Amino acid sequence: MHATGHTHFPQAKKRLGQHFLADESIAQEIVAVSGAGPKDRVVEIGPGPGALTVWLLRACGQVWAIEFDATLVPLLENRVKGLGTLHVERADALRVDYRALATRLGGPLTIVANLPYNVGTPILMHLVEQREVIASMTVMLQTEVAERLAASPGSKAYGALSVMCGMWMCVEPLLEVPPAAFRPPPKVHSTVIRLIPRPAPLAETRNLGRFSQVVHAAFGQRRKVLANALKSIHPESRDWLTRAGIDPERRGETLSIAEFAHLTNVLDGLTGT
Ligand code: SAM
Repeated sequence: MHATGHTHFPQAKKRLGQHFLADESIAQEIVAVSGAGPKDRVVEIGPGPGALTVWLLRACGQVWAIEFDATLVPLLENRVKGLGTLHVERADALRVDYRALATRLGGPLTIVANLPYNVGTPILMHLVEQREVIASMTVMLQTEVAERLAASPGSKAYGALSVMCGMWMCVEPLLEVPPAAFRPPPKVHSTVIRLIPRPAPLAETRNLGRFSQVVHAAFGQRRKVLANALKSIHPESRDWLTRAGIDPERRGETLSIAEFAHLTNVLDGLTGT
């Protein structure tokens, strides 16, 4: 068993996805696997009462934290006293301009977070959109979401999220964390993953909005073959798929990221855009 100490945890707010990490050795391990060090511009999202912040400050000396819940900030500041320099911003991580933050801090950001359970996926995708200012992200999410992010074509977990993340990011699951490590324990297991921006996207597409539309339509109706699932995008979907060299009877979950990109580029040619 891991030690949980006698830390007093604040009353958790469900609407803010609060499950506080109570296992010191897991907190320490997450910071160790993140590889964050004194040279990095470390940004922690949702520090809460500071389980990870304590170890991040010990490893890096300085941390920029973004916390929505103002009532937790005095607790946090008290807990990390004397460990280093903590800059806390009371803000919604979904609305933060990470590009502006990176400019202000002078370079790409190293993100470390035990993400709020209710908005973990949108926060992560908001960061993926701003990937050019991200050095790496080490984040804890519910295992089901982590599996979708890391899934390969043909697997049950493979879906729009796998494609929209995998196109630009390398995703590596690092460690599983059981519900008992948190106060209060969540109903689901959690997984820490690392995401690093690829040097170049997995495939070239000129039209990113359309790429996203094609991917979401293909997975929108999982049981439908592509010829039917993609009709909403182009009425002559069979012709389009055939020109792209993709069997119209295949299902979306069998297509690789490169095939989705190719399909989008062929559609651009068909519609003259
Ligand atoms: N890092 C702490 C830990 O490991 O114990 C807390 C993790 S808890 C799962 C998620 C944290 O994110 C909470 O402190 C919560 O208040 C904060 N949070 C929730 N929604 C947020 C948002 N939109 N922007 C920033 N922080 C948020």
